[in-house]
Amino acid sequence: MPRTPDTSVPVSPTSVELPTGGTVRPVTRWGEAVMHRKARPVTIYDDDLRVLVADLVATMYAADGVGLAACQIGVDLAVFVFDCPDADRVTHRGIVCNPEVEVPEGPDRRLDEDEEGCLSYPGAFVDCARPDFARVTGFGVDGSPVVFEGTGLLARCLQHETDHTLGTVFGDRLNNRARKRLRKQMEAAAPDYPADWPVGVSDE
Ligand code: ZN
Repeated sequence: MPRTPDTSVPVSPTSVELPTGGTVRPVTRWGEAVMHRKARPVTIYDDDLRVLVADLVATMYAADGVGLAACQIGVDLAVFVFDCPDADRVTHRGIVCNPEVEVPEGPDRRLDEDEEGCLSYPGAFVDCARPDFARVTGFGVDGSPVVFEGTGLLARCLQHETDHTLGTVFGDRLNNRARKRLRKQMEAAAPDYPADWPVGVSDE
């Protein structure tokens, strides 16, 4: 998901340190097969996984995103990274392999209608209703269990990125009219996003 202009300072105590030194890779777009099928689970927590996670982090930051899943750099593995503010503008950072998301059901379930976008469909944003709280469980880059939860954009991000590991893009959650609007915006913005974007984007 793309970052909103809102930059937050406080960091949640559950945050993990994201690796640095990764390589920025082109972002895979909707329509590529890897974006639309369930990803393979992570079973080996080794150096290759650490390199992949570092590349995800580097690419997320280069693309000015708040979250990025492995399929978005063309890799068929169920893992995502995020650096995202919650409703109180507290920043949460994490790595989740084999994510499972839980959202409130019944009387606790409240939908948040807010703008959503996807780095794999860049330059386009429409409202998408999502539960206003989410909890994700899974495993860190070393294979130990992790839990992340929260509100606001973070809740949206945890749901959006877990969806990616299941082969679902947020356009799949929209009605035809919203999807058309989204496509028009994406097409209008296309000149700003060459095929290898965000490779070569300078970090100012
Ligand atoms: Zn996305």
